[in-house]
Amino acid sequence: GDAGVPGRVRVAVRLRPRNAEELVADADFADCVELQPELKRLKLRKNNWDSETYEFDEVLTEFASQKRVYEVVAKPVVESVLEGYNGTVMAYGQTGTGKTFTLGRLGEEDNAARGIMVRAMEDILADTSPDTDSISVSYFQLYMETIQDLLVPGNDNIAIVEDPKTGDVSLPGATIVEIRDQRSFIELLRLGEAHRFAANTKLNTESSRSHAILMVHVKRSIKGRHDAEPSLPRENGNASPLLSSLRPPIVRKSKLVVVDLAGSERIDKSGSEGHSLEEAKSINLSLSALGKCINSLAENSPHVPFRDSKLTRLLRDSFGGFGSSRRSDIAIHDTSKMKFLGTARTSLVVTIGPSPRHRGETASTVMFGQRAM
Ligand code: ADP
Ligand code: MG
Repeated sequence: GDAGVPGRVRVAVRLRPRNAEELVADADFADCVELQPELKRLKLRKNNWDSETYEFDEVLTEFASQKRVYEVVAKPVVESVLEGYNGTVMAYGQTGTGKTFTLGRLGEEDNAARGIMVRAMEDILADTSPDTDSISVSYFQLYMETIQDLLVPGNDNIAIVEDPKTGDVSLPGATIVEIRDQRSFIELLRLGEAHRFAANTKLNTESSRSHAILMVHVKRSIKGRHDAEPSLPRENGNASPLLSSLRPPIVRKSKLVVVDLAGSERIDKSGSEGHSLEEAKSINLSLSALGKCINSLAENSPHVPFRDSKLTRLLRDSFGGFGSSRRSDIAIHDTSKMKFLGTARTSLVVTIGPSPRHRGETASTVMFGQRAM
């Protein structure tokens, strides 16, 4: 998508290297894709003679570093969150292709391995703006259309609340923890991961069947400097210093949402692999609702079907497009302010594996990414 146009989703594809098993078992077979990163192209092999070519905003090979992936996929979104906009980074792909590797690695054993969540918080904490009041985090999973807190186990069935006036989406029931340093953030991610594992064991499911969602809330007060805000109206075209100092501070809230989506693989609905029909339906529902919303945004359609699933209801205000991803101090109906929105705020990374045996799933992931652009 065109990253300069609000509402467009920036789409990158990331290929993981072959794993040990694939190196041995598929040694005689070519990869199902061929990447041309300079041309931002991916060729999907149809057979020995023929391939289909697709273009993306960014094509990340198996040699792309975590640092580069962060810079390409997430950094522009993090920067706009620090400017007061909401933003979303999502990873979509078959289980085992690197969604969690891309987003969630803590990198304690190896600094270079740090994933997008950790690098994003590093940049947010490093932002030295004197206006910043607080940085806080919530972390939950969405499983079978219910939202479960990953910070406080047992806090399930969290409700989504939408403000009808502003369109803001909030989760009043979710635990929110203020973050002051990177160490406590990493501790929190680790805790969330442990709680996720325990919850899924209890539910007899796997983490690949739920969406894990991290929200980072940035709150700022802009005190007595309203004139420094180009997007705000001034009185008589001039800001009086006296008035400025008397005015209450503007509270500006923005959030970064990082979504590690459920595995996109087609699930055997017979239940023979231990999935319930309900589980399969629910994952298909939320991923297809997400796809539809992203496609409507890509097509600039006036109707985006956010209401179709909890996942999309949850992402509504942080998803890009008109009526969202706006500064929190600008009313939703004020279209004249929309022209100030300029940079990419929704980023999708689709992760794929190279093995020829996953060609079908890789093809469907590539198509999901294509339709989003
Ligand atoms: P997913 O979350 O999509 O199910 P994971 O992130 O758990 O997939 O990755 C599956 C396996 O592949 C893990 O062992 C992970 O370390 C490895 N892996 C994924 N992406 C890469 C990569 N880009 N480079 C090296 N190993 C990777
Ligand atoms: Mg995962």
